[in-house]
Amino acid sequence: MIVVMNLGRSEAQRDAILERLQTLGLRGQEISGVSRTVIAVLGNVFPELRDELSTMEGVDEVMRVSKPYKLANREVHLDDTVVELPYGVRVGDGHPVIIAGPCAIETEEQLWAAAKGIRDAGAHILRGDAFKPRTSPYSFQGLGVPGLKMLKDAGDRLGIPTVTELMSVRDIDAVAQYSDVLQIGARNTQNFVLLEEAAKVGKPILLKRAIAGTIEEWLLAAEYILNAGNPNVILCERGIRTFETATRNTLDLNAIALVKRLSHLPVISDPSHGTGRWYLVRPMSMASIAVGADGLMIEVHPSPDHALSDGAQSLTPGNFAGLVREVGKLAESIGRPLAAVPERIAS
Ligand code: PEP
Ligand code: MN
Repeated sequence: MIVVMNLGRSEAQRDAILERLQTLGLRGQEISGVSRTVIAVLGNVFPELRDELSTMEGVDEVMRVSKPYKLANREVHLDDTVVELPYGVRVGDGHPVIIAGPCAIETEEQLWAAAKGIRDAGAHILRGDAFKPRTSPYSFQGLGVPGLKMLKDAGDRLGIPTVTELMSVRDIDAVAQYSDVLQIGARNTQNFVLLEEAAKVGKPILLKRAIAGTIEEWLLAAEYILNAGNPNVILCERGIRTFETATRNTLDLNAIALVKRLSHLPVISDPSHGTGRWYLVRPMSMASIAVGADGLMIEVHPSPDHALSDGAQSLTPGNFAGLVREVGKLAESIGRPLAAVPERIAS
């Protein structure tokens, strides 16, 4: 349920509503937009509440929210959420951003070559994982904290924000200390305790869609983060598991366009995991931007043939530079030019 307030409502009128909700064992969250202010009613609402709230002072209208996710819902929050990152990078403001870097941080040299390459090509955010969720326990699991330090160092030297995966509550302090954005991977999208604990850190969260997760489940996962008090969620479509085996996953372009409509949260696309094949990454990047993605996440490795994870879907820095040029032209031609890259610092 949402309570749409009169334009001239007073703080006392708002407080009266919040207090009434509290008495009823519910919670109200005020959401101020450009065109209106609403109070989202959270908890187990009952039909009679609508009549009661409608008669309270300062209230314009009370509406039911048809979907189970409330705070993530566009009906509750008409304006697009814009997630602000260090170095002035903004996600969701109509200018797509490009996140790029290796799947896993392997060595300082490997990370630096990838990081420098993506920075020179015009990426906005550096990715690289130190904790890898691998299907087999015998595969490379990531460098752990030493890897996080390398990522932070590369981000600092190049003057761009960083993102890395958080796999466990165990690693929250370390990941939060070294990275600007916390990534929740597809295998953990419905790890609700992890979502709540990660939310409390207060840093932006990049939330992947689950391997076989529906759009509603994905938005309800985002709801856990929003409900824990962290409004800075970036959704990432990374392909879903279907009957098709010719590609690693099926990148769901429907989901990008639909979630932009259902939710106010920024939605980016990950055509690397979405396809599993490096030569499909460019065309699916173009398609993602064309259907309204707020950004891309692309895996780049200086030597994909030798990568310890996801080499088959990783671009060389040279190929990545070509992708940025082509995507940039497309973005320009549809009136949504790519975001400006942070200013270079000496390095
Ligand atoms: C990744 O980004 O490297 C990754 C493991 O992604 P996903 O969680 O989408 O599989
Ligand atoms: Mn990967």
